[in-house]
Amino acid sequence: MPTGIVGEFLDLKAETDADVLAMQCGDFYEFFADDAELVADELDLTVSQKSSHGSSYPMAGVPLTELTPYVKALVERGYRVAVADQYETADGHAREITRVVTPGTLLETADDDARYLAAIVRDGGRAGGTTGAAGEAAGSDDAGGPYGLALADVTTGRFLVTEVDDTSDLRAELYRFDPAEVLPGPRVRNDDALLGAVREDLSGSLSVFDAEAFAPGRASHAVREQFGRETADSVGIDSDLALRAAGAVLGYVEETGAGVLASMTRLTAYGDGDHVELDATTQRNLELTATMRGDRDGSLFETLDHTVSAAGGRLLREWLTRPRRDRGTLDQRLDAVEALASAALARDRLRETLGDAYDLERLAARTTSGSAGARELLSVRDTLALVPAMVDAVEGTALADSPVAAVLRDLDRDRARELHTELADALADDPPKTKTQGGLLRTGYDDELDELIASHEEAVEWLDTLAEREKRQYGLNHVTVDRNKTDGYYIQVGKSVADQVPEHYREIKTLKNSKRFVTEELEEREREVLRLEEARGELEYELFEELRERVADDAELLQDVGRVVAELDALASLATHAAGNDWTRPELTEERRLDVDAGRHPVVERTTDFVPNDLRLDDERGFLIVTGPNMSGKSTYMRQAALIQLLAQAGSFVPARAATVGIVDGIYTRVGALDELAQGRSTFMVEMQELSNILHSATADSLVILDEVGRGTATYDGISIAWAATEYLHNEVRARTLFATHYHELTTLADHLPRVANVHVAVDERDGDVTFLRTVRDGPTNRSYGVHVADLAGVPAPVVGRADEVLDRLREEKAIEAKGGSRGGGDDGDGGTGDGSGGAGTKQVVFDLSSGSFAGGNGGAGSEPGRAARSSENGSEPAGSAAEGTEASESNDSDERTAVPDDDRLDPETAAVIEELRGVDLAETAPVELISRVNEWQDRIGGDSV
Ligand code: ADP
Repeated sequence: MPTGIVGEFLDLKAETDADVLAMQCGDFYEFFADDAELVADELDLTVSQKSSHGSSYPMAGVPLTELTPYVKALVERGYRVAVADQYETADGHAREITRVVTPGTLLETADDDARYLAAIVRDGGRAGGTTGAAGEAAGSDDAGGPYGLALADVTTGRFLVTEVDDTSDLRAELYRFDPAEVLPGPRVRNDDALLGAVREDLSGSLSVFDAEAFAPGRASHAVREQFGRETADSVGIDSDLALRAAGAVLGYVEETGAGVLASMTRLTAYGDGDHVELDATTQRNLELTATMRGDRDGSLFETLDHTVSAAGGRLLREWLTRPRRDRGTLDQRLDAVEALASAALARDRLRETLGDAYDLERLAARTTSGSAGARELLSVRDTLALVPAMVDAVEGTALADSPVAAVLRDLDRDRARELHTELADALADDPPKTKTQGGLLRTGYDDELDELIASHEEAVEWLDTLAEREKRQYGLNHVTVDRNKTDGYYIQVGKSVADQVPEHYREIKTLKNSKRFVTEELEEREREVLRLEEARGELEYELFEELRERVADDAELLQDVGRVVAELDALASLATHAAGNDWTRPELTEERRLDVDAGRHPVVERTTDFVPNDLRLDDERGFLIVTGPNMSGKSTYMRQAALIQLLAQAGSFVPARAATVGIVDGIYTRVGALDELAQGRSTFMVEMQELSNILHSATADSLVILDEVGRGTATYDGISIAWAATEYLHNEVRARTLFATHYHELTTLADHLPRVANVHVAVDERDGDVTFLRTVRDGPTNRSYGVHVADLAGVPAPVVGRADEVLDRLREEKAIEAKGGSRGGGDDGDGGTGDGSGGAGTKQVVFDLSSGSFAGGNGGAGSEPGRAARSSENGSEPAGSAAEGTEASESNDSDERTAVPDDDRLDPETAAVIEELRGVDLAETAPVELISRVNEWQDRIGGDSV
């Protein structure tokens, strides 16, 4: 075991679970052993060898004042860095760990994005699976909730808490806030599946923190300590889980010693009532903040972002990823955007003012943590100075009577002015970067300081003019007065005149060409200068600290001003984009509809000569099946719909000539999953999980976008699933839905499900050339284009010809029935029968793929058709009264087409046999046994035995 300095290092390292330790050794921070290697690797530091008691250890160091950038670089790479400082003791010095810098508690970040530290807590009472109300999600391991979630951005003091219902909601929140560090609670910590998922979604790191901190008593104590009992009670965290998460975050921030607790002045509890459900998949699919490939460029945020301040950018991003439902909030935002959009001059003036603002939310955190220097306080001063200009730019212009003015209304302008004056009076204009060498404060700020400065300057002046005086008085040439570390102040006289010096000169050093002397008076003055220098530095620093503390006491005001800057900036940014791109104000309504006149895709329109398209979704026409060849524009059309919906609920104008937007409670998308393929996950499984989530979560007030369902499996599987999902969404969920499919067969559903309509992206086809018109028209495409595309792509003619033949044959062999929605007879709402069928109004039809039409099967009054049936594939007929299934149209057999009847209408014996037949596990049953059982069944239902 090494002793000495390396031993001390290793001992300290053992105390912390940080990845790296930086230990102060005099004027350096040193890393030893493995840590030295790691730091050298990551940061290009030079490693030397330190010998300690016969062994030798790698060692790397950085000067005391330069630690911060190294720590920051390490933390940004995901390491947790402990810092041990050295302090004086009676018998020398000692060292202890004073803070641990982690990704979620790093203050010194250069980038403008929010930087969240998150804690997740799950109820102790039950296991990850599903019970009770959430039971319908059984079978997926996805429920798992509820969870308490707390998110703190230590760089700005934002503190959010909430409770979410299940794992999918949790992942949506984590994706949205993208925390730099996550603290899983004691139960979450052991859930490998969940941790795996979190890891996959996030770029941040997971840290294990003391389970005790998540305990209810301790956590709620921490929250009350931090925010005061009233606040903690009044913000209405009625969720114990959320409270525990909040407590854990506070505990962690305190323990790591980031010193920013004081900047967390406000606790925001957010919950269900007002947010639009937007799961992680949908946020990704809609490319809100990054494209599917992971680039920022080309995302919705990047396209819309014209903000001029860091805080404005953060807020705009939040608006886009957290759309709202509350009409009041949205209308107010829209009013403000409208006012700003139509007042170009005022808007420009406002933006110019805002552009000069520093990041007050961040500065507030730096003042409370004590890391702000004079330059930071100057930034605070200069930003506060903008308040009157901001007010002028709003109240003195066309914006005066608009809701833009409301943003400024609650701001405590008097307090802002007072604080500004105080800073302006206190701070020197060009303070040095260091805090301890004077020059921070203005003369006139403090009398005592001014006196000290005056005396100091006087004493210095005496020293400065001493050489001149001595020259004159004693007729000495070659005299200088100077100072250095070893000799202090001295009088230096050239050798040639050294013997002419007066008697009271005392020689202290002889150099080659000169001699150095001191006098008693000089020594006295020197002591005085040093004393005054020290006193001045100390007093000034003390005064500065007091000033900073007063500013820190006003952290909330700084955050308020910061928030106002952010809000004005985000609104002005939306207005700028709207005005520059001919966007229009959406009309929000509680009605269930989405009506878009000449809509465009907000991102694609920037780079393409875009062809606008209309969209109509409402109670009569709530489900659109979108068909058209590959690359014709189906996805674009559907994403455009989702983005217009989302923009409207972010309070933004939308890219359209006109839009009436019914407020939704959620936007759900499922889109061909390129990225998942790259991650090596089974696409079909992922696709089905996403579909499952949508079918469980969407409501009649949601917007659902399905871009191909069932592609990842065999055609008949795929069609069946797409078909059944359509029925379910139409009949049960009743969400507004856009469904693009290459299963041309689905278009016939429009004839039988009342709210289903077809639209297609038109193409112009001439002489075998296809031109994409990008125009969406009513009705289905008149053909399926897959084979056509193969042809266009140059697949050899015999293959294309054969493919056409095969396609025809396949169509001949299948029939599907449609389970109709309940039309008339009143809206059955959710009083359904629970087995997924529509009840009394159910229609039963059989779709014949060979003719592309439906045959008039009729389920009979009150009867209920069975599942989508496959009719006789192998020639053996369904038993009993069931009519046979569809035959190929060329077939000379009966023309009649119906489906397998419902079990209810069979005699009990036949029904029993069918039940047994369904239950047979082919993989587990020997052929001989099968034969004997078929024999038995045939006996029981009176068929021919073998
Ligand atoms: P699909 O989903 O049918 O395969 P996409 O929606 O991916 O087709 O669109 C294919 C291409 O067509 C995209 O690159 C897009 O830029 C372009 N596009 C789509 N819709 C339009 C439109 N309305 N106007 C102009 N270009 C469009």
